[in-house]
Amino acid sequence: MGEQDPGGSNKTGKTDEKAAPVKKPTLAERAAYAAEAVAARKPASARKPAPAKKAASAKKAAPTKRAAPAKKAAAGEAVPAETAVSADRAVSAKKAVPVKKALAAAKPVTAKKAATVRKTAPKPPAGESRTALVRRARRINRELAEVYPYAHPELDFAGPFQLLVATVLSAQTTDLRVNQTTPALFAKYPTPEDLAAANPEEVEEILRPCGFFRAKTRSVIGLSKALAEDFGGEVPGRLEDLVKLPGVGRKTAFVVLGNAFGRPGITVDTHFQRLVRRWRWTEETDPDKIEAAVGALFPKSDWTDLSHHVIWHGRRICHARKPACGACPIAPLCPAYGEGETDADKAKKLLKYEKGGFPGQRLNPPQAYLDAGGRPAPPLGAA
Ligand code: SF4
Repeated sequence: MGEQDPGGSNKTGKTDEKAAPVKKPTLAERAAYAAEAVAARKPASARKPAPAKKAASAKKAAPTKRAAPAKKAAAGEAVPAETAVSADRAVSAKKAVPVKKALAAAKPVTAKKAATVRKTAPKPPAGESRTALVRRARRINRELAEVYPYAHPELDFAGPFQLLVATVLSAQTTDLRVNQTTPALFAKYPTPEDLAAANPEEVEEILRPCGFFRAKTRSVIGLSKALAEDFGGEVPGRLEDLVKLPGVGRKTAFVVLGNAFGRPGITVDTHFQRLVRRWRWTEETDPDKIEAAVGALFPKSDWTDLSHHVIWHGRRICHARKPACGACPIAPLCPAYGEGETDADKAKKLLKYEKGGFPGQRLNPPQAYLDAGGRPAPPLGAA
């Protein structure tokens, strides 16, 4: 689960790269640019690249990464949501430094370090002050905003009710799977009143592909009843009301508030938790405390977009088990660089979704995504 079944003709990132416009910078160029920019701000002594011998030995020591094994999705089981995007900042080909060299210059890694770094938690940047942390965090967000200028919620929806239901259904499965399932659900039950009065067995049949379909059926029927009885058939626009609905926690509530009501919120999902810890933005493990700690690093107006950027990066490049460090545009800002594949060519093969050559997760994506070259996901059952 998680790996998107492309279901289409474009099955490799290679094919997609060939089709890309000639002038578009590659991830390697972007990573090199970022590394170069960081190196340029350091004193001359810090800019000294790693000795060739050292760099070579570090490269040798890096364990060979194999492609992630295809995960089996049992009937009714969820499919994971890992996926991909890349770099779009214009960088002159002449200026671009080979990515391996740039990364080595930004962060020399000895053979010994390369062998141990993956097994240990990321080390905080030495002596980083609160001010430096805020600056680094905001810079990562700015960089990601350029990498993912069209980041958006990856659930198809029209209005707060559909987004609320889709978000509840997205637990333990991919947004793609939800997007392939909800058209039939909303066609048959377009309003909270319709879903509240539905026959549970019929709803279960529709929701079966999403996994945990019995529990999810209870949740969506339950929250529809609550909406119909307590809120006049409307989704409330307040956090305290949303979290009282069956199956709705703070994460779901913030998704709805941020994307259907335009109220800033931080969505602490599994990707968000993993990435902010890798970046040493916080040591917290409780989602509510992570939300508070990260929220304090950014102005409130940034929260919703920040959530999209982080989640998109987690799905596309900084994966849970195989982060593509060698193709990561924020590698020079990341204390966990080296936790994943550092070889640029091997790392590129780990990229997912549109940047890895596969379609995105939305069947009906926003126009900005299409304008930027994004491709919609295939409908359920497409060849
Ligand atoms: S762990 Fe690797 S892929 Fe993830 S943000 Fe850091 S450098 Fe990028």
